[in-house]
Amino acid sequence: MARKRKLISAVIPCYNEESGLHELYYRLGKALKAQNSWDYEIILVDDGSSDKTRLILEEMAKKQSHVVAVLLSRNHGHQLALSAGLSVAKGDRIFILDADLQDPPEVLGDMMKVMDEGAHVVYGQRRQRDGESLFKKVTAKGFYRFINWLSDVPLPVDTGDFRLMSRQALDELNRMPEQHRYIRGMISWVGLKQEPFLYDRAARYADETKYPLRKMIRFALDAITSFSIRPLRIAAFGGFLFAGLALIGLIYIIWGALQGNTVSGWASVISVILICSSIQMFVLGIMGEYLGRLYMQSKGRPLFVIEKIV
Ligand code: UDP
Ligand code: MG
Repeated sequence: MARKRKLISAVIPCYNEESGLHELYYRLGKALKAQNSWDYEIILVDDGSSDKTRLILEEMAKKQSHVVAVLLSRNHGHQLALSAGLSVAKGDRIFILDADLQDPPEVLGDMMKVMDEGAHVVYGQRRQRDGESLFKKVTAKGFYRFINWLSDVPLPVDTGDFRLMSRQALDELNRMPEQHRYIRGMISWVGLKQEPFLYDRAARYADETKYPLRKMIRFALDAITSFSIRPLRIAAFGGFLFAGLALIGLIYIIWGALQGNTVSGWASVISVILICSSIQMFVLGIMGEYLGRLYMQSKGRPLFVIEKIV
């Protein structure tokens, strides 16, 4: 009996990507076919798109035996769509990429070689990014360094979800029940041997980014709250600092009163109130971010709802 060939699963979350899907299938299919001695499956997740993405994926899955379409019940967001795809993947190696071809599928062969040498995760690290706004580049660069500073586990900088991972690494990832997912960080947390792979990030093949500022901020908050409680500590430290300052101020006032000079100072009183109350609101806000996530997690809802797998 012939030994079963090993399987690569490519997993791609797609949200309103109708214009790029055929090109994606073509280029990715070619890269996968080039891995002789490996079988492959292409798992395309429709994240509740409002354009023709869903139809195209269904069609593809019916026509092409390699394609699996995972159709979510509504828009769940990039990280959850990816998690849904990963939960379906059966491969011995798993290749994650975006639908917009910003991550070149052609580097798969080189990533496979790094993995042959024993790595469990080969993550794409961006040397440069094309076709993205200066704002996006600057905020992304700053963000990756900031989150790395906050986090207790080292998180590689300039790294998205583009990567090749082993079955074992994926099994560990799939065991994590957290709702607010920062997948690239969670994979770092797993450990095992992880190697960077330098590449140049291309411009989007079609359409525009599905990450408007609002989603970027939410994503950043998810990343920070799931990898660090340092903001809470900083808030506590700020409290101590201001208590110290208040004490000094109080001593100064009492001493002044004993000397018999009470100061009439509306401006100074108001500004102290404004500063202190805004700091309090800010600290409450930080606590609220953690509390809200704790609450959502405590409901124990499933992470995503798959309507249909074709
Ligand atoms: N995406 C998704 N659901 C969303 C938003 C994005 O599945 O709610 C997918 C999108 O189709 C793409 C990937 O996530 O495959 C990355 O999105 P995008 O390219 O817009 O982000 P950027 O590269 O601009 O950071
Ligand atoms: Mg993109």
